[in-house]
Amino acid sequence: MTRTYVEHESTDAEPQSVVSATNVHRTYTRGPQGGLLRRNRTATEVRALDGVSVSVAQGELVGIAGPSGSGKSTLLHLLAALDTPTSGRVEIRGTDTAGLSARERSTLRRDHIGIVFQRFHLLSSLTAQQNVALPLIELGVGTGERRDRAELLLQQVGLGDRLDHRPGELSGGEQQRVAVARALAGKPDLLIADEPTGELDSKAGARVLDLLEELSEKRAVVVASHDQAALERVDRVIRLRDGTVVSDA
Ligand code: ADP
Ligand code: MG
Repeated sequence: MTRTYVEHESTDAEPQSVVSATNVHRTYTRGPQGGLLRRNRTATEVRALDGVSVSVAQGELVGIAGPSGSGKSTLLHLLAALDTPTSGRVEIRGTDTAGLSARERSTLRRDHIGIVFQRFHLLSSLTAQQNVALPLIELGVGTGERRDRAELLLQQVGLGDRLDHRPGELSGGEQQRVAVARALAGKPDLLIADEPTGELDSKAGARVLDLLEELSEKRAVVVASHDQAALERVDRVIRLRDGTVVSDA
């Protein structure tokens, strides 16, 4: 069989950046009421990020590594438009998040970003299917279609036989896969996961990583982790120390 069409037309083009941070700083300020001792009653500043630049393209699975307190979660919050930088730029699909109101950022998240946390944050009174369907309400999807799409997403993460289970009836790994399915409900092109395997044993963690790897084929996925097994699986590791990038390879 002869194929006459060009299969990979876009290979010469720069890979399209889904999210980028350019010289980003994030400083947290604690008010003077924090200290009990008189000499501590001044505002203290923590420079959580100190001039960080990163860019993640579609099709990439990128790990954010670094010791506790190095700024991983702070960076993910910025990349997920949950927070804005003190200075520098974060662009999601070309939109500068600093120029948006909180409401506009929430719309940006709804339309483009899926977020997975270390502790799954599922609603315990809802079934797996209802948890996954929840974000679809905000997207204006009708009841029947919400149910169908949630079922499909749960099948995709290998939980098609657990639709009616509540979080308490699922293992940690299964709950995290429900959380991944929920994060995918709005068809995001950027998936952000903060220590997604932190609460899981290695087998359940590996399963979640398989899933993230598979999902990164069609979107950008950023995973913060200090799990070595997770970092060995990603395309690229960005290492942070004290709020700066020490390597990106
Ligand atoms: P990591 O996720 O790598 O453990 P974080 O991004 O959570 O690191 O934290 C980076 C630094 O910022 C730490 O020194 C932490 O104490 C500080 N920090 C994080 N969040 C806040 C906050 N809301 N208020 C004040 N300091 C914070
Ligand atoms: Mg963290």
